[in-house]
Amino acid sequence: MPAPLLSAADYALGLAAGQRGVLARAITLVESTLPAHQTLAQQVLQAVLPRTGGALRLGITGVPGVGKSTFIEALGLYLVEKLGKKLAVLAVDPSSPRGGGSILGDKTRMPQLTLHPRAFIRPSPASGSLGGVARATREALLLCEAAGYDVIFVETVGVGQSEVAVHGLVDFFLLLMLAGAGDELQGVKRGIMEMADALLITKADAGNEAAARRAARDYEGALHLFPPAASGWAVPVRTCSALSGAGLPEAWALIEQYAAQTQASGYWQQRRAQQQLQWLEEAVRQALESQFYGRVGVQTALPGVRAAVAEGQLTPWAAAERLLGQ
Ligand code: GDP
Repeated sequence: MPAPLLSAADYALGLAAGQRGVLARAITLVESTLPAHQTLAQQVLQAVLPRTGGALRLGITGVPGVGKSTFIEALGLYLVEKLGKKLAVLAVDPSSPRGGGSILGDKTRMPQLTLHPRAFIRPSPASGSLGGVARATREALLLCEAAGYDVIFVETVGVGQSEVAVHGLVDFFLLLMLAGAGDELQGVKRGIMEMADALLITKADAGNEAAARRAARDYEGALHLFPPAASGWAVPVRTCSALSGAGLPEAWALIEQYAAQTQASGYWQQRRAQQQLQWLEEAVRQALESQFYGRVGVQTALPGVRAAVAEGQLTPWAAAERLLGQ
């Protein structure tokens, strides 16, 4: 049986005290689609809002097999052990199957980090549309900040639309790439490369170092063809090995350098403000949609109208007008 709900004030207190159990339960609450849970979740988020915003939010993407979980485990341990950070790892993977297959953020993929007292790992919410999963992850991110985590990783698979959603959640977007596999093979779209704030060629070890450096040079050349970023940041390409640890401190130093540079220029704050406004639009869209489909008239008319559209007797636009008139 699930634990009973706390009051919004108790969630806020537990989060402020950094209680992991309360954090886990608060995330379950924001993932719930029950209206009563959503109302309470909004109260909790509103209560903790002043305690949010303080973390460095890092998006990490790359195709399956590129080494994301190994990288997160190694960089994560460096951050919590060497730098004393508190790290939360979240994931956005709307396709994640429950009970079988690999799940992003699955604790068995990061065995040591999972056990560390300053790390908190949470798998991707399982159900729902990308929009729903991204929203739940954004709210989970705020809850982690309220609980005192100062670095948040958001992991996603670099093959589809989910990185656009993650890009809208983070301050810095890191693309992991393999040496020796063409872009086609890696399924990495130009659009994803354009979103990246840095590229890291993984597995630069065990005789693979030269190939990794060559790949880094090739990608650097390719990036020169892109228009300069609005941030004024020149996207670096580096190599690393999660197994040997080579390149990991340097990768982190780059991210901190980006933070310092864009905070000084004001771009950092601008990007966050823009993300907030995108979320406002998304929230309005979602609210209108659920209001619309919740109307009795719409629910009654919908099956007939859908059938008429499917059979080509009614245009989708005329059908929408008719439903909106309900
Ligand atoms: P993910 O699917 O992107 O999460 O990739 P994984 O982290 O599961 O790694 C895929 C495979 O690559 C595993 O067999 C890892 O052991 C291996 N791997 C990951 N990082 C490295 C690395 O830095 N060096 C080497 N040689 N192998 C690695």
